[in-house]
Amino acid sequence: MTDGPLVCPSCSERHPPEERFCRRCNMPLVIDAVGEVPTEAARRARKIKPQYAEGALVRVVGASNQTEAEFIQGMLLEEGVPSTLRRTRGFDVPDMLAAGPRDIMVPASGHAAAREVLLQAELVGEEEPVTPPGQVLKFLLVALVIVALLAWGGTELLG
Ligand SMILES: [Zn+2]
Repeated sequence: MTDGPLVCPSCSERHPPEERFCRRCNMPLVIDAVGEVPTEAARRARKIKPQYAEGALVRVVGASNQTEAEFIQGMLLEEGVPSTLRRTRGFDVPDMLAAGPRDIMVPASGHAAAREVLLQAELVGEEEPVTPPGQVLKFLLVALVIVALLAWGGTELLG
């Protein structure tokens, strides 16, 4: 095993848990918790509130495309609501295409909280889940900034 939970603070070489000192420079090993790069999935999982993650998936709102859908997912996640996307029925296009409307699905226990978030963002009305085009444009601008930041952060983490 070349990888391990222990890391040398001097040369960054990883060691298995039974080692106490670095084989190369004899430094006492430390548990690599700070230096560990959390995966995107792990970071998301940390934000999710367990009470919002129970029950069957229900549709909370529709988005007109993948970008908008992902932006809404991001907003929901900030409030601890996990979500998943489904291609809206009747719009069968290949998966690699970002076009086509999406349904945003949340666990039943997170539905009320999700609606609350969307209401506050004025992305849904009280009754019909409608998305006013003007609002969407405004939010897409914000979304673009977020996406750019995420992309930048991703490059940073990879590099
Ligand atoms: Zn070392």
